[in-house]
Amino acid sequence: MSPWGVPGLGWPGTGRSATGSKRVWLFDLDNTLHDASHASFGPTNEAMTQYIETHLNLPHAEAWSLRQHYWLHYGATMLGLVRHHGVKASHFLETTHRLPGLESRLRASAHDRAALRRLRGRKFILTNAPRAYALRVLNTLRLADCFDGVISIEDMTMFGHHRPKPDARMFRCVAARLKVQPHSCTLVEDTLDHQRSARRIGMRTVWMQRYLPPVRRPGFPPESVSKVSVHPCHKPLYVCARIKSIQGLLSM
Ligand SMILES: [Mg+2]
Repeated sequence: MSPWGVPGLGWPGTGRSATGSKRVWLFDLDNTLHDASHASFGPTNEAMTQYIETHLNLPHAEAWSLRQHYWLHYGATMLGLVRHHGVKASHFLETTHRLPGLESRLRASAHDRAALRRLRGRKFILTNAPRAYALRVLNTLRLADCFDGVISIEDMTMFGHHRPKPDARMFRCVAARLKVQPHSCTLVEDTLDHQRSARRIGMRTVWMQRYLPPVRRPGFPPESVSKVSVHPCHKPLYVCARIKSIQGLLSM
């Protein structure tokens, strides 16, 4: 994997936080630390569909279906486009994450921000989004200084192949790079697929439910909640805990 340290987000590499805790927190970004359904998902999906229309010369409806198919199948639309259409990952990510006016739509909980600062252990962002977007969100929401580093989709490569969430090999590699066992890591996420994979290799998992869309029919949340249809009131075996606020992590 490539280096994860970024300006302002140091890479300690000692295996311990300043508080002496060996605990590692891996935080998803979108719909875990901020309301991405409001701020970015719509424009990003539109930009990705437009990209597929333009570069694969497909009508809108087919481009939309292909984007959704690759997201469901690979966990990231980019992966399918790189693998099957020779799209250059960096070009796709840069083109589809320009998101004009993003800053004005971003919102996060002030209580979450305060809780993140109090949380003991090393904290990293682990996101399938590109680094530039992640830093833009973190800086706008004044969250960047809460974290020790950002692990973005550009960093999730192994032997020349992209391995974004939910790839278990990538989760193992993250723990190894952080010099801890997987059981010392806790993944905080809204996406159940990612938690299932992380739990399989021994990580602890916390299901963030603050930004889940409203459930329209009992037992059948909208597809955007997760590729796994689980009602928010239920707790799959691979989910260690559910929270609606980062404050909930302080007692774990
Ligand atoms: Mg998410």
